[in-house]
Amino acid sequence: MKKVSILIPSYNEEQSLPLLYNQLVEVTNNLAQYEWEFMFVNDGSRDNTLNVIQQLREQDNRVNYVDLSRNFGKEVAMLAGFDYVTGDCVVIMDADLQHPPYVIEEFIKKWEEGYEDVYAIRRTRGKESFIRKKLSLTYYKLLQHSTRVEVLPNVGDFRLLDRKCINMLRQMRDQERYTKGMYCWIGCRKIGVEFEQGDRQEGESKWNFSSLLNLAINGITSFTIAPLRMVSVAGIIIASLAFIYMVYVIIKAIIYGDPVAGFPSLMVAILFLGGVQLIGLGILGEYVGRIFNESKNRPVYFIESFNGEYHEPNQ
Ligand code: UDP
Ligand code: MG
Repeated sequence: MKKVSILIPSYNEEQSLPLLYNQLVEVTNNLAQYEWEFMFVNDGSRDNTLNVIQQLREQDNRVNYVDLSRNFGKEVAMLAGFDYVTGDCVVIMDADLQHPPYVIEEFIKKWEEGYEDVYAIRRTRGKESFIRKKLSLTYYKLLQHSTRVEVLPNVGDFRLLDRKCINMLRQMRDQERYTKGMYCWIGCRKIGVEFEQGDRQEGESKWNFSSLLNLAINGITSFTIAPLRMVSVAGIIIASLAFIYMVYVIIKAIIYGDPVAGFPSLMVAILFLGGVQLIGLGILGEYVGRIFNESKNRPVYFIESFNGEYHEPNQ
């Protein structure tokens, strides 16, 4: 019997988990030809999420959980899940019911056809502000322009991955993870399935503007060095223009003499160049910071327990 694992990173989801679990049980009852595993990753929740998961495990031995030692963020929580799931494929979904469980059936159909990475495409984005939608789409366009690897807009972490893809992703142990980019980077046979994204049922979204910005910067810096190239190009252009202007100024001074003037233009030039240099330094700093973080070579996460006891990840 093939085994399907459902991976659910959960952070402060005590209200959503029982609802989600009930819906999942319905889906799995319809697909009784598979063996199922529900893998919850408790990402250092501050509420009763862990107790809720433990209760579910008492009623149902298909429930397993990884309890992380603190809040590591969704990206790392997913990696922890990859390390511990035992299925032949994994369905990743959010705990907040924004990802409707009925799609799992379609995922599995495609998987049986031989696809290794079946991703869900949001047809609508649910209740999101206009600005957030616009920003997100512009961001994907930008990212897409700066890299050869295809990054898909309106596609998130809701997807089914074959064991082969999971093993690939497990080898990529970046500290600052941008899993969305990794799915594309590893290749594999991909296909999309459309779905309507619902609204979060309980609790609130953990993403605020600054965490989204952080993820966006992470996405770019972990994926491409195009910004560095842009700074060099800007430097070359500004330097060439400055050189032409210098020749002009010298010739003018020789022909017409040099009455001291031009304080405003001097200020403008200095301030502009100072600004450009600071931006360049900032971009450089982003990459140096990443090198610093990766070079420490720490484990990406620590667990408190697996199903209540200490347990090494699967080999
Ligand atoms: N999540 C997590 N760790 C975090 C933040 C979020 O594991 O630090 C989980 C959360 O429990 C949910 C999923 O990631 O299952 C998506 O989170 P959320 O709904 O807040 O994000 P959004 O849907 O707004 O993008
Ligand atoms: Mg959500």
